[in-house]
Amino acid sequence: MELPWAEPYRIKMVESIARSTREQREEWIKRSKYNLFKLNSDEVFIDLLTDSGTGAMSDAQWAALMTGDESYAGSRSYRMLHKSVEEITGFPLLLPVHQGRAAENVLFSVLLKEDMVIPGNAHFDTTKGHIEMRRAHAVDCTIDEAYDIYDAHPFKGNIDLEKLERVYKEHDKERIPFCLITVTCNTSGGQPVSMENIRAVKELSDRYGVPVWFDAARYAENAYFIQQREEGYAEKSVREIVREMFSYGQGMTMSSKKDGLVNIGGFIALRDEEIYRAASNFTIIYEGYVTYGGMSGRDMAALAVGLQESAGEDYLETRIEQVRYLGEKLHEAGVPIQYPVGGHAVFVDATKFLPNVPKEEYIAQTLAIELYLEAGVRGVEIGTLLADRDPETRENRYPRLELLRLALPRRTYTNNHMDYVAAALIRVYERREEITKGYKIVYEPEILRHFSVELEKN
Ligand SMILES: *Cc1c(COP(=O)(O)O)cnc(C)c1O
Repeated sequence: MELPWAEPYRIKMVESIARSTREQREEWIKRSKYNLFKLNSDEVFIDLLTDSGTGAMSDAQWAALMTGDESYAGSRSYRMLHKSVEEITGFPLLLPVHQGRAAENVLFSVLLKEDMVIPGNAHFDTTKGHIEMRRAHAVDCTIDEAYDIYDAHPFKGNIDLEKLERVYKEHDKERIPFCLITVTCNTSGGQPVSMENIRAVKELSDRYGVPVWFDAARYAENAYFIQQREEGYAEKSVREIVREMFSYGQGMTMSSKKDGLVNIGGFIALRDEEIYRAASNFTIIYEGYVTYGGMSGRDMAALAVGLQESAGEDYLETRIEQVRYLGEKLHEAGVPIQYPVGGHAVFVDATKFLPNVPKEEYIAQTLAIELYLEAGVRGVEIGTLLADRDPETRENRYPRLELLRLALPRRTYTNNHMDYVAAALIRVYERREEITKGYKIVYEPEILRHFSVELEKN
């Protein structure tokens, strides 16, 4: 008999989570204006809102925390982080910041001006926010297969080279400060980008004189997919793959709350001294001095260790296979999910799941609320609310996909939790025909509305 698979870790510390009744949840979600971001965390049983900053640190990270050097300048923890980042990514220059969007703010303050155009593969929402706030434009060049939720393409984060070249031909080079590759592509479903595609984007961009940057929040997960799926990489280590990926870029912005395996933090890593100097000034204004940039010494120490752990093959297998485990359970029960399953989350096709809810009534949000009411499981809408309004016309932008995302915190839940989540969603699926009404907006801010929007039942 073949031995079954088991997690390559054991648990040293536990945190209680609370169950609740449907009546309680009905009251809590109403009080929260039907926005799951407004729930108190202890009103949630299993929290799949995000994989951002919600993972568990290892004993080695907790130990590193105690060694944190809180010196304002030249901290030993900064040097430890710098060494770790350079070893993993190959980028020699480092600016720590407090999280990923701060990296965007600092970098874009240097590189972006009004009317510029930034091509890439489905920019993340804060990235788009930082671009559009500067009256510049994010152009999505993701391959069409990404928007066919059931297409079995192994790298649905890839950039369509023809779409990219069209952008390069349509605009002066001066108006295209860089091309941004997001690995894995969060917005298209945590889908990976192949090495072949990264290389091709680099070659094309070189021909037009446009530098390539990475939005690298889940670069280790992307590297794992390359190892598992791309020809010629099965024998390479994740570390080697990560090094090759980044060799094609001028630099990266990082949300350490993802593949950094810490609860807060971010950084910019890069090669160009001039950009580093200019970005240093913005770091000092917005974040803090260049050797801490909004992070404490202890957090930098934990991150230095976390980066090494997240490139570990055992860790990545456990991580990615758990996401797939949940996806397969749902798939087997007929629940329409994005397939193949991505790296950090399972994405449920809300339009197909709830055929009787009109798109003007926020289908994916409706599904997220139903799942919460059913079992206290919190997912998140990746649909019309997230897509915001068109900055010029102020009309709703209806994205091609209305998705409910179930994002899995790293090293946090067991597969029993996954079984519970799957059973809850399958129960909602069984009564899907009865769900015919969605929600309407009673308050929303100008950008990034999904965080603070307030809704009412239709
Ligand atoms: C999370 C994320 C960001 C922003 O990072 P924060 O740490 O949340 O500010 C940017 N890009 C991608 C792809 C992300 O997943």
